[in-house]
Order: sequence, then C-alpha cells, then structure tokens
Amino acid sequence: MSDNGSRTDLATHEVTNQPPLPGDFDLFGDPAMAPAQGLPGHDEHLAAFGKLAGSAHAREKGRLANENKPKLRAFDARGRRIDEIDYHPAYHELMQLGLQNGVAARAWTHPANGQVAHAALGQMMAWADTGVGCPMTMTYAVVPVLRDESWTAEQWLPGALVADYDDTCQPKDKKTALTFGMAMTEKQGGSDLRANTTQAKVGADGEAELIGHKWFCSAPMSDAFLTLAYEDKGLSCFLVPKWQPDNTRNAIEIQRLKDKMGDHSNASSEIEYRGAWAKRVGEPGRGIPTIINMAHHTRFDCVSGSAAGMRKAVKLAVHHVSHRTAFQRKLIDQPLMQNTLADLALESEAAMALSFAVAASFDAAAGSAHTAAFSRVLTPIAKYWVCKRQPSVVAEALECLGGVGFVEESGLPNLFRTSPLNSVWEGSGNVIALDIQRALQDKAVALAFADEITRIGDEIPAIAPLTKWLSENPAADPRLFAERAAIVLASDALSAGSVRDGWINLRLMAPSHIWGGNAAQIDGAAILARVQGW
Ligand SMILES: Cc1cc2nc3c(=O)[nH]c(=O)nc-3n(C[C@H](O)[C@H](O)[C@H](O)COP(=O)(O)OP(=O)(O)OC[C@H]3O[C@@H](n4cnc5c(N)ncnc54)[C@H](O)[C@@H]3O)c2cc1C
Repeated sequence: MSDNGSRTDLATHEVTNQPPLPGDFDLFGDPAMAPAQGLPGHDEHLAAFGKLAGSAHAREKGRLANENKPKLRAFDARGRRIDEIDYHPAYHELMQLGLQNGVAARAWTHPANGQVAHAALGQMMAWADTGVGCPMTMTYAVVPVLRDESWTAEQWLPGALVADYDDTCQPKDKKTALTFGMAMTEKQGGSDLRANTTQAKVGADGEAELIGHKWFCSAPMSDAFLTLAYEDKGLSCFLVPKWQPDNTRNAIEIQRLKDKMGDHSNASSEIEYRGAWAKRVGEPGRGIPTIINMAHHTRFDCVSGSAAGMRKAVKLAVHHVSHRTAFQRKLIDQPLMQNTLADLALESEAAMALSFAVAASFDAAAGSAHTAAFSRVLTPIAKYWVCKRQPSVVAEALECLGGVGFVEESGLPNLFRTSPLNSVWEGSGNVIALDIQRALQDKAVALAFADEITRIGDEIPAIAPLTKWLSENPAADPRLFAERAAIVLASDALSAGSVRDGWINLRLMAPSHIWGGNAAQIDGAAILARVQGW
C-alpha cells in the first residue's frame, strides 16, 4: 500500500522504488521566503496562504485548469454577440483562492511592506498555477494608473481594491470585485508600440470611440482594459470597459483564442474594437508613459512568477531524488546529482531574492528619491535575468526525475511549456536589455545605480571585480551588461552565508556552462537542506 492507498502489490510485479506523490508543501516555511517572514500585519496571512497554495489540492486544480482549456463563446444561442469565455470550474476556484487572499489587492490595502507581501503571495500562488497569475497581476498592476486619474480613481479603483473574485459578466456596479487587463500589442508591432494603428475618435470630455484591433489580449473576461489608440494629439491611453456606461455590452469582439504552447488555463485572445466606448486615462498623447506605469509593476510580477517556477521545479526534483535509489544509493546522495541540484537551488534562491529586492524597492520608493531611481533600473535587470533563467532550470530539474519528469502527471511538462513566457511578454529580452540602457540615460537613475554598485563592491569584496567592470563599462553590450548587473544585484539581495558564497563562486569565480559543472566546490548539502523540511 502506498501513501494515497494505491495498490503496490500488482499481479505481475510489485511497485517499488517509486517516490511517494508530492503532498502538501508549507510554502511560507521555505527559508528563501525570509524577506517576507515575520512582517507585522502580514506574517499570519502569508503563512496561511502558503499552506493553501502549496497544497496538493491546489496543484490538482492547476492541472485541471490547464488540461481543460478555456473556450470562446462569441455568440449566444440565437446568434447575438456575447464575446464570453467558458473556463473550467478549477480556473474560477484558483482565481478565488488568489484574489480573496489579496494576490492583487493586498499590496495596496496593506501598504506597510505591502509589496514584499505581494511578492510572497505572487510567488506562492504560482505554485498552484501560473495562468491565473496573468489576470491577478494585471489587476494588481493597474492600480497606480487608476489612482493617478481622478475619474478612474472614483469609478474603477474601488473595485480593483476588493480582495474578492466575482466571475459574473455584468456591468461593474453590479459586481462585488473587478479584474483588469491590458491590450497594447497589435499585429504589426508589440515591442514598438508607436506602430499601433487603433484610432480613437475623442470628444471634449475624453470619451472616445475606438476602431482597430489588438493581436494579444489576455484575460478577455476582465471588466476593463487599459489600451492604446491614436487621437489627434498622438498615442493615448484609454480605459475600455467590457460593458458601456449605459449597461449594454461594449463593442469589443473576440475574434479567436490563441493556441498557445503553454499557459493554457489563461485565455489569450485576438480582439477588435468596433466602435467600442472608451475614455482617456492620463495626458493626451502620453499613452506609453501612462501604461508603462502598469507595465513596470507587471514586470516585477514576471520576476516573482519565474522565481517561483524555478523553486517549484527544484522542490519537485529534490522530493523525487530523496526517495529514488539508483546504483545502491539514494539519488540525492549521488555526488553529481547533489551538484546539479545545488546549482539549480542556488539559482532559484537568487531569483526569489531578486523578486524580494524589487519588492522592497517599490515599498521604499515613495519615501526615497534614491530608491525610486534605483528601482527603475533594478526591475528590468531582475526581469531580464530571472525570466531568462527559468526555462533552463526547469528543463534540468525535469531531467532529475528521469523519464517520469517528461510525463504530464509529474507537473513538470506544464511548468516547462510556460517557462519562456515571462521573458517574452511585458518586454522581450532585447527590449528589456535596451530599456536598462535607456533607464541609465537618466542622471538620477545612473547616479543611484552607481552608488549601489559601489556600496555592493565595498560590502562584498568577492564580487568587486564585477562591480568595477559595471562602473567602467556603462556602454557595454546591453545583454552582457544586464546579466552582469543581475549577478551583482543578486549577490547583494542574498543574505551572507552558504547560498551567497555559492552564488559568487559559481556565477563569477568558476562559472560552468551546464548546471552542476563546478558545484563540487560549494556547500551543496547546506544549500539543498534549505529546499527540504517544509
Ligand atoms: C501568452 C501571451 C500573452 C500575451 N498577452 C498580452 C496582453 O494581454 N496584452 C498585450 O498587449 N500583449 C500581450 N502579449 C504580447 C507580448 O507582450 C508581445 O508579444 C511582446 O511584447 C513582443 O511583441 P511582438 O510579439 O510584436 O514581437 P516584436 O516586437 O516583433 O519582437 C520580436 C523580437 O524582436 C526583439 N526586438 C524588438 N525590438 C528590438 C530591437 N530594437 N533590437 C533587438 N531586438 C529587438 C524582441 O525582443 C523580440 O524578441 C502576450 C504574449 C504572449 C506570448
């Protein structure tokens, strides 16, 4: 008999040497969660959420939500347009789990260390499913934009700040809570948003009629979207709601859902605005700076999501090798397996540390011009590195399980398929590398970055060769600059000890190009102990 009562004594053989199914994980007990542990006003909430999101039950909901893809219902039974999406019930349960526990709202409703708490919530939610993270992230990230504009602050902000989920499709005033999306990318250009062609016919009060299309619009059941369209004064940002102010459905037609490689629980659509009602948000002609305020926050969530994806993959691999024997030894005691996993574990801890560092910079930015400036460049640096590391980490972790890692039931194939996503959206790699350079053109940002780099070099002498290189080569290749800056900033974000020492050793002193290649010289047992026991 095994852990879940399944029979091991079969007619032709006995099932042996197969690890127990991974059960419930206490996610907030992970030592890498340290920056969020013990925070007054958040600690108990985060600890409770870590048990919910880390449960086998939540992961099962994630499996169901991904295996049963959302379907478009463009018309009702009599041919009238409704443009709705049918989701599997597991999707709604996951949305409820996350939104009721404040994955989107808590950063704003409990602002003392709110962004650090948000990073922890986002990371833990991603263990259950990453697809639902998309609408939650956009609902979180829209808040600064809604807050800055008086009419949205009055009419739309309150619904974004409710820690609840209302899956009904009806006008906002009839709903208990709202979700938001963003629609910028068009067929002819996603990175280069000035190539947008959607047109807005704007009245004196900023109300507009939109004609055009968006090539990617995720979470199309959101109650409203921030979008970009051209008016006389240039490219502006508009809020376009699912329902018009007169409580009729808005003319946002969903053409089809994307057939994506992963992220299956999350519907991503192609839409057309056919005279859709909208209203301008922000200054006319300043659409990109307005919506970038939202994108800055979604980029932060990409870091948290990818960090969690790596940690989950490593945890599942460590669970497996702790119970599986090959060549008379538990796999975890085989030196090469230990080296491989220690290297992956280091990467996942550095990613979580960077996510928390960005979060802390968001929390401190309001009270410190220096931190606000530093945060502007820290965020894309973290996004560049962490999101690019995820696919490789997940692939190697998958291999640690052997053949079963390649089988859907292990959960790793779903995680692997979704792994490249955070690097693609919200600014693909090259665009982010160039954004880092653009940010450093700003004197205040450059100064804050230089100060931080100098401080880190002084505090951690082992990393000083790299901080020196960064100071002397501001015009280096943007991708090289981004990756070296990330290695330095992760060293700073990690606490002193075996993980930080291992990180500097493997990423700076003796890098190898494949995981585990040089890990014999780090304290692998200490690093792996941190992935166990929670
Ligand atoms: C699953 C999924 C969901 C999405 N959901 C949404 C959504 O809800 N809303 C939304 O607006 N968008 C969404 N997107 C779109 C996404 O943000 C864009 O695909 C992304 O911004 C890239 O734009 P693009 O596809 O037009 O590629 P392009 O802009 O054509 O870029 C192609 C490649 O060229 C690189 N590149 C661009 N400029 C340069 C340069 N100057 N130098 C060197 N390289 C460069 C890019 O880094 C990229 O690798 C989604 C995408 C995916 C995959």
